[in-house]
Amino acid sequence: MLSTEAPSSELGPSTSIATLAEPEAETNVDVLTDFVERRTGLLFSAPPVIDYSAPDPSELNLDADFFADEEMWRLLTVFGLITPQADRIAAAQARIEQIRGACCPVQLYDTDDHPLLTSVVAVHELTHLVDEGRMEQMPFGPEDEVVGLARAVSEGNAQRVALDYQQLLEDIGAAPDRFVVGWSHPDIPDAFLQILEFPYEEGYLFSAQLEEIGGLDQVAESFRRPPLSSKQILDVDSYLSAERPTPVRPPDSGQGEPIQRGVVGAFLLKLLLEQTMSASAAVDLATQWSGDSYTVFDGEGDTCVVVDMVMESVEATEQLRRVAPDLDLDAATGENGSLRLSRCTSD
Ligand SMILES: [Zn+2]
Repeated sequence: MLSTEAPSSELGPSTSIATLAEPEAETNVDVLTDFVERRTGLLFSAPPVIDYSAPDPSELNLDADFFADEEMWRLLTVFGLITPQADRIAAAQARIEQIRGACCPVQLYDTDDHPLLTSVVAVHELTHLVDEGRMEQMPFGPEDEVVGLARAVSEGNAQRVALDYQQLLEDIGAAPDRFVVGWSHPDIPDAFLQILEFPYEEGYLFSAQLEEIGGLDQVAESFRRPPLSSKQILDVDSYLSAERPTPVRPPDSGQGEPIQRGVVGAFLLKLLLEQTMSASAAVDLATQWSGDSYTVFDGEGDTCVVVDMVMESVEATEQLRRVAPDLDLDAATGENGSLRLSRCTSD
């Protein structure tokens, strides 16, 4: 019998559940493995191995650019979401030091300070391990937004299983505050933190909603047909109806030398809107995003951005136009009914 299915009368210090709540969580890898297999509908190809004594993550020589990509940083800066003085490498380093687990192979860090949390991280990383095959099969499309869409599928699924496991521990008496992790750090600007958390938080909600709607088959489908935009992750109906973003041509930068091009997307739009409205109002408007294209360019020493954004309705376009001044954005009419937003920032 799976220990997690044991009737409560059987629970006691000698059962495996009680052992799980103790620091020796690594001795129960079979129980964790079982849980992950049931909550993903997948089977491990070989018995998983967990390294509980991995070196400190700061000694891994991880690439700062992976955590704080230069183009992402420039886009957040030009939109005024982070200050030009913020230190990108320091932010990446601070984030690297927060790492509690990695896969694959499964490695766990800081395992001494909280065994209960460590077991939840182990479940998260084991889910990555069992997902390896379908990640390899995933058809990766071009990702033009600063948030990772394939990562949101993968991290979202790992969080769905890990938070289920945490709930199970709470149900048998673990205090919820034992799982609280404070991610804020003086070197990590808030907008950057939100970008980092997107695959975990919004990805989790996406994965959990898919399971609620269509079970584990629907979750599996998200690996075969990953979302095409952050809007599809924020708005699961838009994913299910396979809504495609409206194609928009990159706006011309005039005399300025183009530095980078891409898509702002619904999630970054939501972060912008949150500066001037509530989070729920921001997500309501941001999920009426239909498509956009931006160009960042050198405007006589300033860094500037121009974006042509298409919303789903005239009303949404007008609402965005009205709030643009509050976001320090100039608004004009762009091509093909789009709203053209622009802003410059000095370094
Ligand atoms: Zn992960």
